[in-house]
Parts: sequence; C-alpha cells; structure tokens
Amino acid sequence: MDSLTAFAEAKLEALDAQALRRRLAPTRRLDGLWVERGGRRLLSFSCNDYLNLSHHPAVKAAAVAAIEVHGAGAGASRLVTGDHPLLAELEARLARLKRTEAACLFGSGYLANTGLIPTLAGEGDLVLVDELAHACIWAGAQLSGARVVPFRHNDIGELERLLAELRAAHRRCLVATDGVFSMDGDLAPLDRLSEVCQAHDAWLLSDDAHGIGVLAEGRGSAALFPGATIPLQMGTLSKAIGSYGAYVCASRAVVDLLKTRARTLVYSTAPPPAAIAAALAALDLIEADSELTARPLSRARVFTQALGLPRAESPIVPVIIGGAEEALAASRALEGQGRLVVAIRPPTVPARTAPLRVAFTAGHSEADVLALAAAVRPLLRKEAA
Ligand SMILES: *Cc1c(COP(=O)(O)O)cnc(C)c1O
Repeated sequence: MDSLTAFAEAKLEALDAQALRRRLAPTRRLDGLWVERGGRRLLSFSCNDYLNLSHHPAVKAAAVAAIEVHGAGAGASRLVTGDHPLLAELEARLARLKRTEAACLFGSGYLANTGLIPTLAGEGDLVLVDELAHACIWAGAQLSGARVVPFRHNDIGELERLLAELRAAHRRCLVATDGVFSMDGDLAPLDRLSEVCQAHDAWLLSDDAHGIGVLAEGRGSAALFPGATIPLQMGTLSKAIGSYGAYVCASRAVVDLLKTRARTLVYSTAPPPAAIAAALAALDLIEADSELTARPLSRARVFTQALGLPRAESPIVPVIIGGAEEALAASRALEGQGRLVVAIRPPTVPARTAPLRVAFTAGHSEADVLALAAAVRPLLRKEAA
C-alpha cells in the first residue's frame, strides 16, 4: 500500500475507535420540513432552514427566473466579470435591513470569515475569539497571522482582563464572536462586548449566521441590543434565508476595502445568480411577516418549557445526552420513530459532551414539538433530567 493510502486508513481507524468518524448520509429534502433518508421519511429537527424558505415557491421561482436571465454560474470572480447586478441589489437590501452603510457578499459564510479577518488583522495585531465561536472564525483568525487568544465563552470579565493586559502591545485588535452560538443556541452579550471593545479600541465582529431572519423581526441578534456598536456584522444566506452565500455589513470604507483585498472574494468565483435571487425573494418574505420570523423561537420555547430546560434564546436547543456513543444511540432511537435529530460530536463540541442539537423551524407545529419533547424525555442524561 502506498504511504498516502496507508496514512488515510490509519487515520480513519483511529477515528472509528473513538466513535468520531463521520459519514455522509445521502438525504433528500422533500420540503422545508421533511427529509428522506435510507428510504424513510423523517421529520427534520436538524436543518438550519429555520423559515423553511429553501422550498418556498416564491424563493424557488426567483432562483429559476435568475438562471433563465443570468445563467447557472457567475462565470468569474466579482472583480473580473462575475459581479452580476443581483449582487448589488442584495447588498443594498442587507445594508438596509442591518442599518449599516454598506454590505459585501461572499460565496459562503466560511469564505466571508476567512476573507474578512485577514483583511483587517495581520502580524502585530491581536484577535480575541470566544472559545465557542464557529470554526471559520478560528480559521480566519489563524490565517491572518495575528496573535490569536481565546476568551472563555461569553466571559466579559476575562475579555476585559485580556484587553487590559495585551491590547497596548498590539497595533489593531479585533474581537470575534458568534451572535447566536451555533451549537448551544445562546446569545452573545453584544451590548457588553460592544462597551468593552469601545473602551479598548477593539473592533467587534459578530457572526449572526443563526440570528438573521429569526431574531428581532428578522433583523438578527444585533437588533436585540440597540445600544451596541457592532462595526462588523457578518451572517450567511444559507440558514433562515434558505439559499447560499454570505454577507458582511459594515461601513462603506470597510466594505470597499473587502472588495479590493479580501482574498476569498478576489480569488473565488462570485456566488451564482440563482442563490442571490433566492435570497432576495426570501428577504421579501422575511420583511413582510414578523409572525413567520418569530415562530422558530416560539417553538423552541415550547420545547424547553416542556422539558424544564433553560428557556431557549434562539431556534437552537442543545440536549445533553452524554458521551458520543450515547448521543449517537439517542439520535438513532429518534430516527427509529421517524424524527431526524443529529448528534453533534467532538471536535465540533468539546470532548465528553455530545448534545443532540435540535433546530426548530416555522413549519413545526406545536404538536410536533410536544411529541419530540415526549420522545426525548427518557433519553436525557439523568442529572440533567
Ligand atoms: C454555518 C455557519 C457559518 C458558515 O456559513 P456557511 O455559509 O454555511 O459557510 C459561519 N458561522 C456560523 C456561526 C455558522 O453557524
């Protein structure tokens, strides 16, 4: 066997031995709510399509129409010939929704964070990151070449101490957090983060992948903290917006700088017209219907109340089952009952906790939610139940 294949096989065996090997499960999404896997229909509590808009007729029709007019692919990066007119239209819409001067679209959230952070920070700079922030914030921070220091999750006191100790020795400083944490569903205290950042001339980046569309009438987690100053507001089009792609909302100058310097924009093909048109149609629906945008969180709260869990702050609810194998067994048991609830394993979450991550959407009925709670109750870890 050649050394490359031997390396891959040994690595896979080691992962298998720790129950950490991941496998793709071909899944057909039948609508915004139901999926088909292994020949079975399952009610999904594992899609981030919080408003079920990926399958909304108006969103699909907009994507189809955009393909007819603009073609299937963008053809090149934005700075070459890929800057199709839908991009500017969506940027203007997002800037208006987020009340910032401007917005910059990227191909995905991963590309946005790995382009944004190295554009603003480099050698001699400091990037402080909440320990539970998304993997692509870490990737962007590492790529930047700045000094990267984690702070304990949502621990403002520790952030303040780190800034007091380290800020003066660095030129520029960026503080990065999720607005809604992707695995635990809790919120960052953006008001207090903003205060601390302003006191130390640090730039606050909030990643609102899971807040846009579902909090504050769709405007996202930042709008829950009206006094906060958040100069860098990033989010994706791939969750509640039901499409693909991502944005950074910021001042005009920051956006212009991103458009000339962010390597994941300069050297990567522009997002396809269909994805952008779909996002525009989704924003029409989001801005028109505050009852729709409120529903995923209200469903999550029905669930947390039924199980006596801490009140949900977002549509995401973690349910702690135990180690990786227990969580997988729980997920399989729920699947046996026709429900898809995936277990999240290390390294996505810290070793030794492997929650079921339950994501509620507007399309789940209260009866669906209560039935899930009844099915989950016997699986709860004893000290948590
Ligand atoms: C999903 C997610 C991303 C990545 O966005 P994609 O558009 O899927 O690449 C970034 N940040 C957070 C917090 C996420 O949950």
